[in-house]
Amino acid sequence: MLNMSTENNSEHLFKNSVKILTDLISFKTISGEDNNSLIDYCDDILKKIGASSFRTFDDDKKRVNLFSTIKAKNPSNKKPIIFSGHTDVVPVSKGWSTDPFIATIKNNKLYGRGSCDMKGFIACTLAFAPIYSETNLDRDIHFSFTFDEETACQGAPILIEELKKRNITDGICIIGEPTNMKIIDAHKGCYEYTTYFEGLAGHSSAPNKGVSAVEYASRYVNKLIELRERLVERAPKDSIFDPPHSTLSIGGIFGGIAHNVIADKCHVNWETRPVVKEDAIFLNKELDKYANEILLPEMIKIYPNSSIKKKIIGEIIGFDREAKSDACELISSLTGDNSRQVVSFGTEAGLFQEIGISTVVCGPGSIEQAHKIDEYIILDELKKCLKLLNGIKDKSSFN
Ligand SMILES: [Zn+2]
Repeated sequence: MLNMSTENNSEHLFKNSVKILTDLISFKTISGEDNNSLIDYCDDILKKIGASSFRTFDDDKKRVNLFSTIKAKNPSNKKPIIFSGHTDVVPVSKGWSTDPFIATIKNNKLYGRGSCDMKGFIACTLAFAPIYSETNLDRDIHFSFTFDEETACQGAPILIEELKKRNITDGICIIGEPTNMKIIDAHKGCYEYTTYFEGLAGHSSAPNKGVSAVEYASRYVNKLIELRERLVERAPKDSIFDPPHSTLSIGGIFGGIAHNVIADKCHVNWETRPVVKEDAIFLNKELDKYANEILLPEMIKIYPNSSIKKKIIGEIIGFDREAKSDACELISSLTGDNSRQVVSFGTEAGLFQEIGISTVVCGPGSIEQAHKIDEYIILDELKKCLKLLNGIKDKSSFN
């Protein structure tokens, strides 16, 4: 009989997580868009079971982070658990076989934008939340749902500031990005920039009377390529990454209107993926020095209003491997997976790690399906995730 009811329970849990995932996919929370209704939906589920929550916002309150807590009934010295997921999804392009915002199940796969990246994880935690609230918890369980992770982690830093103010700087954080429930304990940083050049337009027959933004931008790009070689030389000997060094890439150069016009405007999109934070500092220092001490004075000599402005699009700090990680050990003890892997995509992990929270990236679904047409999650992955959440329950109660 006991087995029967456990069976029924897990079947009920699974069905509920699919239902919640279906609801979550129906909210079109593309990065940059209003995500209030999705956050209200999550907050309602958590409030009904007695969780307390607070929200943090962007400047015009269009986009929201939610942080919600089920308090320990019998507090112990165990570190609190934080389940962390981003609520935004990447935009959809044409070519989907189904409506990307209507969850569709076919052959044990659930299709929909965000199904694996990463509303599947959020759905599992929300489906499991009522069980945590009925458990004699001996540590707090937190739910952290952020906005705009996909656009260089814009939401999470606002939440992290609030966590610092509230002294929530200790704990074990599980970032449920799709890893097929494997343990990821490190990734490079991802720093994106756009640099704007403004010079003076003029007739191409008199180049000395104008300031070509395109030409100065080209020299800037050459400097970037030169610095890229330095990054290769700086590769740490014991690097765990492939390639072992920090990378740098020019994503685009945009400027000019005609063959016979000196371009007054040009901008360069570029990014770097540092293996250590120091590389990003080195690169920016050298580059800014070149722009401000070499390029800009030359431009200003001809046209005083010339400018070079570097805009930070996002600086996702890296996630560093730690010799001993409470977060990794917790997952290993529950799933039996003792491997530790690195990935090439960025997450919010480094932000939590930076304030002292032991962090691991581990969640249902595969990154192979993320950001693609016909994104899906294999339903069994949700079951594996629910099993992990059940194991965390057993490790968070004393009866
Ligand atoms: Zn993601």
